[in-house]
Amino acid sequence: MELSIGAIAVIAVNAAGLETARSIVASLEGAQLHGRIGRVDACDVPFDETTAHVRTLFEQGIAVIGVCAAGILIRAVAPLLVNKRAEPPVLAVSPDGASVVPLLGGHHGANRLAKRVAAALGGHPAITTAGDVALGLALDDPPRGWKVGNPAVAKPVAAALLAGEPVRLTVEAGPAGWLKAPGLGDSGAYGIRVTDQSVDSDDTLVLHPPVLALGVGCARGATAEDVKALVEATLADAGLSRQSVAVIASLDLKADEPAIHALAADLQVPVRFFTPAELEERAPRLATPSDVVFAETGCHGVAEGAALAAAGDQGQLVVPKAKSPVATCAVARSPLGIRPNRVGRPRGKLFVVGIGPGGAAERTFDASAAIAQSTDLVGYKLYLDLIEDISAGKIRHAGAMKAEEVRVRQSLDLAAEGKVVSLVCSGDAGIYAMATLVFELIDKENRPDWNRIDVTVVPGISALQAAAARAGAIINHDFCAISLSDLLTPWPHIERRIQAAAQGDFVVAFYNPVSHRRREQLPSARDILLAHRPATTPVVLARNVGRPGERIVVTTLAQLDPDQVDMLTVVLVGNSESRTMTQAGKVWAYTPRGYAQKWQDVPDTVTSSLPHDSKELP
Ligand code: SAH
Repeated sequence: MELSIGAIAVIAVNAAGLETARSIVASLEGAQLHGRIGRVDACDVPFDETTAHVRTLFEQGIAVIGVCAAGILIRAVAPLLVNKRAEPPVLAVSPDGASVVPLLGGHHGANRLAKRVAAALGGHPAITTAGDVALGLALDDPPRGWKVGNPAVAKPVAAALLAGEPVRLTVEAGPAGWLKAPGLGDSGAYGIRVTDQSVDSDDTLVLHPPVLALGVGCARGATAEDVKALVEATLADAGLSRQSVAVIASLDLKADEPAIHALAADLQVPVRFFTPAELEERAPRLATPSDVVFAETGCHGVAEGAALAAAGDQGQLVVPKAKSPVATCAVARSPLGIRPNRVGRPRGKLFVVGIGPGGAAERTFDASAAIAQSTDLVGYKLYLDLIEDISAGKIRHAGAMKAEEVRVRQSLDLAAEGKVVSLVCSGDAGIYAMATLVFELIDKENRPDWNRIDVTVVPGISALQAAAARAGAIINHDFCAISLSDLLTPWPHIERRIQAAAQGDFVVAFYNPVSHRRREQLPSARDILLAHRPATTPVVLARNVGRPGERIVVTTLAQLDPDQVDMLTVVLVGNSESRTMTQAGKVWAYTPRGYAQKWQDVPDTVTSSLPHDSKELP
């Protein structure tokens, strides 16, 4: 598998190892710096508790490089060890960078990582697996893209080489220059066969190089099962191994076809797309060109054209177009091996990301992961600055505050080109933020290239949640959010909602409460609420929550004054029951949920013997 960004976590637990951790991140594609909160400042992913964090990463299949004592990592993952083939590599690096120890997954990437890290740090890779040390080669951990057909045979073959016995090497496909070891030759009881054929053996290790490009076409809405069945039958008829398929290729019109992505997931390879013009360049080399296909798509063959395009100029068509009622496929072979990331384009991806109210501490793991995967970041400059710690190497498209539509269009266009784009919103992406505009524009414009984008909305902590938490628990009963901005909503509509909230005794969070131009809405809202709830109702004014200069003020409804409030403030107004209290010298605001009433009505003995499902979950 190709490494995506975030696939390697470099853990710094304190300042002592920070420089080393940073050097490792800089030297490894796909690596991110994870830092212990309070001990490590700027990092990609902050964490609280090392053991729990390492366990979470390990369970998610993320490679862990801990700049810390090996024991910390061993204790963290020991209870989780089950299957060495499926588990991610774990490495310990001494804080001075001198020792790099692959602890787990030596033959599943850890040794390779250790060598690269040690080379970058000028340290020593403490490789402990026998094959690597004696042979300089790990037969069950071949280079990226290669797969082992019969892993059980790796052990006896490596043992034979280690014992100085000759081992047969047969190369039928792909460049196999990495397979060099004393003893490899043209005779021996054991053998290694490099092939794209589907074969098995008890005494010959079968290695499949990434040399096949599988071109696929299908009717709109074809099922994954139909497409898989055709591909499996076609590969089987040709005697080819699915493990040599390096990439799935198709026409860009098919970029949103679920069956093609399901096939890619099944074969565990990337899928890449080409324009009709790029496929048409292969027309002279097609075995079965079709005028009907040309009339429909602008190229004379999708499956054959895509297979050839992905296999490169020296590629040869090895299986011409095979057809089922709903799908086509064809296979081309490259003599050089295929690097999927270098051919065609991936399906464009748009993350609409809520980054939380401020900096890294209240940003979700998924939001960081989406940003980490992105090539392009689009958003208001203030928000892009808030994620600067995880933006290195990405193209920033910063825009002005009111140019939302321009920003959303730009994100969609970039994603349509095959980029991975994060459209960055503060707080939550779907609360007075840009997620709506994404869907509205796609819906309204109905552009084929936008319709094919893979859109994911990543939620974030909204300002109202962060503000309420800072000041206690003021929204912990039925609440609503109302934006006081009349830019997109006429004031009479806003006023009607405030009236309804007042009558319904909802806790209210006012977003966009005041601007330079708009000062009268907040007093109007206050007066509407005052007609239905006490003048002493607690109000939380939360400015710049989670950002430098955060200020939280607890006041009362009667004292709510627009001069204390600006566009960087969210205003939370309690309901008629909300109150304040002082604890540890601090004023807190909270809204009762009726527990006190319940305690009065129900004697203790009855409360504790209530059946489980009659109690509300917290
Ligand atoms: N999507 C954002 C809201 C954007 S609307 C969210 O879910 O929080 C902009 C308004 O949100 C601001 O005028 C302010 O009322 C509020 N807001 C956003 N971030 C804030 C923060 N860090 N502190 C206080 N208020 C904030």
